[in-house]
Amino acid sequence: MAEPSPTIGHWIAGAVELGAERCSPIYDPATGQVTGQLALAGPAEVERAVASARTAFESWSRMSLAARTGVLFAFRELLAARAGEVAALITAEHGKTLDDARGEVQRGLEVVEFACGVAHLMKGESSESISTRVDSTSLRQPLGVAVGITPFNFPAMVPMWMFPLAIACGNAFILKPSERDPSASMLLARLLQEAGLPDGVFTVLHGDREAVDALLVHPQVDAVSFVGSTPVARHIYATAAAHDKRVQALGGAKNHALVLPDADLGVAADAIASAAFGSAGQRCMAISAAVAVGEATGDALAAALAERAAALQVGAGSDRSSDMGPVITAQSRDRLAAAVEGAIAQGATAVADGRGLVVPGCEQGFFIGPTILDHVTEAMDAHRDELFGPVLVLLRAASFEEGLALINRSPYGNGAAIFTQDGGAAREFRSRVSAGMVGINVPIPVPMAYYSFGGWKGSLFGDLHVHGREGVLFYTRGKVVTERWPQRPGGVDYGFPTQS
Ligand code: NAD
Repeated sequence: MAEPSPTIGHWIAGAVELGAERCSPIYDPATGQVTGQLALAGPAEVERAVASARTAFESWSRMSLAARTGVLFAFRELLAARAGEVAALITAEHGKTLDDARGEVQRGLEVVEFACGVAHLMKGESSESISTRVDSTSLRQPLGVAVGITPFNFPAMVPMWMFPLAIACGNAFILKPSERDPSASMLLARLLQEAGLPDGVFTVLHGDREAVDALLVHPQVDAVSFVGSTPVARHIYATAAAHDKRVQALGGAKNHALVLPDADLGVAADAIASAAFGSAGQRCMAISAAVAVGEATGDALAAALAERAAALQVGAGSDRSSDMGPVITAQSRDRLAAAVEGAIAQGATAVADGRGLVVPGCEQGFFIGPTILDHVTEAMDAHRDELFGPVLVLLRAASFEEGLALINRSPYGNGAAIFTQDGGAAREFRSRVSAGMVGINVPIPVPMAYYSFGGWKGSLFGDLHVHGREGVLFYTRGKVVTERWPQRPGGVDYGFPTQS
């Protein structure tokens, strides 16, 4: 008889709590098998999580900067030492290759390192004598309880875009990770505890819309960071803002690469293939649309990309020879296959077609191979919609201006890249493209932790991007103190005190 699948519970007040009636299955996308069950929070778990976070905030926010950063430094060491374990959990539930999973842990670690410098980042300003004997000082203080709602595609990195800075700034943080791959967040919770973080400062609350909606309107929640698809981001932003929370809601993407005729096509094709098919195209900064300027560029690029797609090794993420793993669910695989079929019916040509791929030994896995659709036009669904899988669409433009205008009409504005050897064209692109993150001969221009990450248009609702300086601003609020210390009449008497 098969062993019952283990159930993953919440992390509340420093301990695992099951306590839910509802559960959802967790899959290994490479085998298609259920590997566990996840407890889904209801109103009672939400209340307990928020109450314990609120209590923890009161003392954590008053702890010295030295004590808070001490915990962050210890967590950094533990995470670096156990990065392989976090990566293995990611691969088992997400499906991405182990190298890719290690890469995401590394990017998260860089935000932890940035957060270790919070003492410097939270410094205010001060002016002496703004008026006679009156001084002014600005402070930044934590908000209270911050919530992070995160997507499946980076189960460790995206939470770490948020919580290291949130807690370093003195907040308590409740993470609501994706229900598809929740285990990495549980290990992060244990490592934070081991690093000395007081119980309740970091909470993991698993759940679906029920838990999220309860958090968005909870009077004891002060801020909400969200990363996920655009329709949900819109809902999160509107609901949380209407309930007086500070919100940043990062949405979906359709990232374009503009390829000019003077580009080194070998370099461009390597970069675009890697950015389109790495992590099975399930990266928010994946290049999912390439725009070639000129028919000759388009033909040469299509041929070069098809060659690279054919050489790609698809298999389980835990298999060291795999370049690309499965997609997250069977529904996702079937939705992608239907989108490819629809594009072909609308006139696109498949120069690589990954539908129906069967990986030996992983016959029930959620695989779709790298797919390239050429002669896609702007109006086709395959270009308009975020597909979020290993499907690259190739469009043609007659000129730089036409290509740039096409990219700028996209409802998304996360990332955009240009491939060229012309500095003037690159400069023009950098200045005029409507996207929050721009690559020049760089396909995935993800900023380092000390810069801020975020898109434009439907890719971000809110004013502040994540991590970097803007992350510190998001998790703190400003206060300006004006103080006057009147001099005592007659001044200070420095004479020796006597009875007279
Ligand atoms: P998703 O929007 O389905 O889910 C994200 C989170 O929201 C999950 O925790 C989920 O439980 C919760 N959620 C889902 N539906 C909800 C609802 N109706 N009400 C309340 N909460 C809900 O996204 P996903 O499929 O997990 O992740 C993929 C998406 O995330 C893609 O669109 C991708 O572009 C986007 N993403 C964007 C960025 C960025 O930087 N802008 C980064 C990573 C991922």
